[in-house]
Amino acid sequence: EKYTRLSGLEPLVLRPDSNFINIGERTNVAGSRKFARLIKEENYEEALSVARQQVEGGAQIIDVNMDEGMIDSESVMVKFLNLLGTEPDIARLPVMLDSSKWSVIEAGLQCLQGKGIVNSISLKEGEELFVEHARKALGYGAAVIVMAFDEHGQADTYERKIEICERAYKILRDKVGFPAEDIIFDPNIFAVATGLEEHNNYAKDFIRATRWIKHNLPYAKVSGGVSNISFSFRGNDTVREAMHSAFLYHAIKAGMDMGIVNAGQLAIYEDIPADLLERVEDVLLNRRPDATERLLEFAANVKSPDSSAKKVDEWRNENIDGRLSHSLVKGVVDYIEEDINEALKHYNSAVEIIEKPLMDGMNKVGELFGSGKMFLPQVVKSARVMKKAVSILIPHIEKENSGSFESAGKILLATVKGDVHDIGKNIVAVVLGCNNFEIIDLGVMVPAEKIITEAVNNNVDIIGLSGLITPSLDEMVHVAGEIERLNLSIPLLIGGATTSRIHTAVKIAPAYSGSTIYVSDASHSVPTASNLLNPKISPEFRKNIKKEYEQLKTRHEKSRSKKEYLSLEEARENRLKIDWSNSYIIRPQKMGISIFDEVPLETLRKYIDWTPFFRVWELKGRFPEIFNDEEFGEEAKKLYDDANELLNKIIGVKSLKTSGIIGLFPANAVGDDIEVYTDKNRENVAATFCTIRQQYKKDKSQPNIALADFIAPKDNQKTDYIGLFACTTGIGIEKITESFRQDHDDYNIIMTKAIADRLAEAFAEYLHKMVRTEYWGYSNNENMTIDDLIREKYDGIRPAPGYPAQPDHSEKLKIWEILDVEKNCAISLTESYAMLPASSVSGLYFASPNSKYFTTGKIGEDQVTDYASRKGITKNEAEKLLGSNLNY
Ligand code: SAH
Repeated sequence: EKYTRLSGLEPLVLRPDSNFINIGERTNVAGSRKFARLIKEENYEEALSVARQQVEGGAQIIDVNMDEGMIDSESVMVKFLNLLGTEPDIARLPVMLDSSKWSVIEAGLQCLQGKGIVNSISLKEGEELFVEHARKALGYGAAVIVMAFDEHGQADTYERKIEICERAYKILRDKVGFPAEDIIFDPNIFAVATGLEEHNNYAKDFIRATRWIKHNLPYAKVSGGVSNISFSFRGNDTVREAMHSAFLYHAIKAGMDMGIVNAGQLAIYEDIPADLLERVEDVLLNRRPDATERLLEFAANVKSPDSSAKKVDEWRNENIDGRLSHSLVKGVVDYIEEDINEALKHYNSAVEIIEKPLMDGMNKVGELFGSGKMFLPQVVKSARVMKKAVSILIPHIEKENSGSFESAGKILLATVKGDVHDIGKNIVAVVLGCNNFEIIDLGVMVPAEKIITEAVNNNVDIIGLSGLITPSLDEMVHVAGEIERLNLSIPLLIGGATTSRIHTAVKIAPAYSGSTIYVSDASHSVPTASNLLNPKISPEFRKNIKKEYEQLKTRHEKSRSKKEYLSLEEARENRLKIDWSNSYIIRPQKMGISIFDEVPLETLRKYIDWTPFFRVWELKGRFPEIFNDEEFGEEAKKLYDDANELLNKIIGVKSLKTSGIIGLFPANAVGDDIEVYTDKNRENVAATFCTIRQQYKKDKSQPNIALADFIAPKDNQKTDYIGLFACTTGIGIEKITESFRQDHDDYNIIMTKAIADRLAEAFAEYLHKMVRTEYWGYSNNENMTIDDLIREKYDGIRPAPGYPAQPDHSEKLKIWEILDVEKNCAISLTESYAMLPASSVSGLYFASPNSKYFTTGKIGEDQVTDYASRKGITKNEAEKLLGSNLNY
């Protein structure tokens, strides 16, 4: 008979009358924090006991997963399995090797003494690799889990699930000769009750697909990772267990054979209270539109059985002030509610609690941060505790009517009109908040009028302006001018990625007779604000800054007149001359537009460059060496773990959507412009990109480059090509940040945005690779590690409008027009050409091996006049677009 036969030291045979098979899930570094910690600490003894607990809890197969960025998964897998093989009570079970990396699975297969299961193979990366992995699994004598995942992504509907499973089954049977009884399908269990309507059918579709597979694909089995289903209710084990058990009840009826579960922690279906069961099944079977809300409501009143069993730490024995201080300094949010309620009994008023123990704690945080003993992520976590505490006290303060507490000063913060970036501003808000400043945060894209009106109405002490893209610099000058025009004297702080002390001194400060001060990062915001508002220091401080900035400006003007520039004509004469007649130009394999809808976040995650992530948190160093930093290595590691945990959740519930587009077209250079054609005869010009040429005088033999130099000129007769792209990973981000906002959790708001930005850059990296190796295909046997990609070791570039090689952001409009980015990817442009959602990237592709990134630098009036006429705009408009690049 064709029974699925597996084995550890003992056989496990799935007969038609076999019961459902529990696969123990806890030996998974991605799913169990405890297990991950034990593995990292190389505490294999304890790690094995996790496996043993699963066996004792009724697991019949053990799933082992070692996929984690900081773990050498292959060698750890081998070590753990070899140790496990020496424990007869565990080793009697078959092992399921769980990894997204084939090399890890293969290393594991070489350790198994019985017949295990490979978890998993799929059509994700095409048929060829799928067949190769299946053959290998067969060679090692293992069964396989086939995940319902193909080249287009993970199957989330009934139709997609069965389509992929059927295709995979055929390939395995016809091409590989894989035994049908050793094929186990995983049709993907996704979280339900996430609040997104498109998730409502996930459980139902899994169950339907299971039934279909069992009827139509003879002898194949069905499995799945059960705890995903209840992800939205993490922290509430009662509801989660009820969901698992009810889900299994229905899925098993449909034919599900096995599942990865927390063995020993499954509720018995019959024991689930009727009212809970009804709500759970409403959700699972999508029986009513308000099912999610009803279960959420119900869940709020169900206490988790084990939440009271938390380990009591030493510091919990301190007095109330000590405990509050500990929570604040260490950023522990778990006990704050309990402690604040107790503090209310000890203190006369709620205000007093803020003014005494809480402010004492925050002062300590401020001190430690100021002296470099605490780092930004810790401060932001402390602020989360403070905010939570205050939110609990506010109703009491209102009741007591005992007035408000003294803040150190009121500060208004805003990202200026046209700009959408606010991570830095949010960090400054948190840090200032920690130091007792009252923050009024107006958010992003705030026009000057609104900033000024709110500043006046709220009688603020300081206005802080933030911006990331170059057009924002101009907008800041405008705001400063408006404040001047209205005769106000509120000090102005300037911050954000493209701002600088020199720019503030040269451009913004002269527009305003009040104080204008550049703040380089969050840690500088506190002393600057304190100095400005301390009546003893302030006058002197303001006077010194003014003097310093005036000197900076004078010095800048003197040095500028010294630098030598070529005329535009001379610069063109000295352009980069590529020998096009001897260059072989490769025609793209797939011309025109290709849309990348829903590239899975798991895929993009692998392309993340983590170094800039740490910079956001003001921890400077290269990843992964940063973890060895003597001062903040440990904090960096914690931050990285938190980021990955959040990333796991985002991926688990698919709360961020991705959308990308590329276009490859014939193109030729015409002077400093690049004509993009829609046809191969080069008759229809879709758009003309205008590029800018370096004009500063260089050493001999160094060319004055413009991007147009990287494309074959039209008069040379050769057809060349160019690519355009745009992508975003920010669709749906507001929902995530909003839920954190309600929880007063700035730490996770900032984290979410930082992660989304990383994913967007990773998406750009991924698309670029797809273009080089497939769509354009000019380097189709490229074999690069992620590190090679990050170090840009490949041929070709993807310059972005607004960056140094083409400082004019408005060139994005042409990408938007040709690719219809707004419609195809839901990314729009603001009046300053910032992309919305903020986590988006766009640019051009150049394939020439001679192409490289460069900095345009300052340009002359002759080029600005020329550029304006080529672009069909006035000189004045061109000067505005290139404000930071004018040498006059
Ligand atoms: N791995 C980095 C990549 C981003 S920075 C990350 O994840 O953040 C590099 C990108 O910025 C390039 O891909 C390009 O799009 C843009 N860029 C960098 N230097 C540039 C220049 N001089 N001119 C135009 N675009 C540039």
